[in-house]
Amino acid sequence: ASVPIGAFMADLMEEFRFELEERQVRLEYTDRTEQVLPVRLDGKRMHQAIRNIISNALKYGPEEGLVIKAVLSKQGDSACIELSDNGPGIPADKLPHIFERFYRIDNERTKDLSSTGLGLAIARELVEAHGGKITAASEEGKGTCFTITLPLAG
Ligand code: ATP
Ligand code: MG
Repeated sequence: ASVPIGAFMADLMEEFRFELEERQVRLEYTDRTEQVLPVRLDGKRMHQAIRNIISNALKYGPEEGLVIKAVLSKQGDSACIELSDNGPGIPADKLPHIFERFYRIDNERTKDLSSTGLGLAIARELVEAHGGKITAASEEGKGTCFTITLPLAG
């Protein structure tokens, strides 16, 4: 169905904000759109894609002082959702692989976590099922930013 992405995101971010506050994590959501943007959206699938990204921020981010920022904007013919964290970041040579199935970065911090390396591969499939794209940018020691772009319904 064609859904106004601003209303969808406002509801979703409110839900996550509530969940994250219980874990002392701050979620800051900004809607930079100036008009209603209809997107052909499967709400459950987009919810899951965003959940996978947020759960990584929780898993790999600092135990104290984690801040997740979400921004909705319009970029040309697309709606753009940016999700950034102030976690450890991802080394540049590893970044191109993070959307591959079963790809994990093993290190002292993460070796004990029970993870399969599927979260981002699934997020990418879910976003691409909307005709959209997902990319990541990261700086070690500063954090990581995921960008989801979704075509506007014509
Ligand atoms: P799963 O999601 O299946 O539990 P996973 O979290 O290891 O396992 P992905 O979500 O696909 O798998 O992430 C792949 C790898 O990318 C992770 O192992 C982690 O090393 C790195 N990564 C993902 N998100 C972040 C992030 N926000 N900050 C730092 N590293 C990240
Ligand atoms: Mg994950």
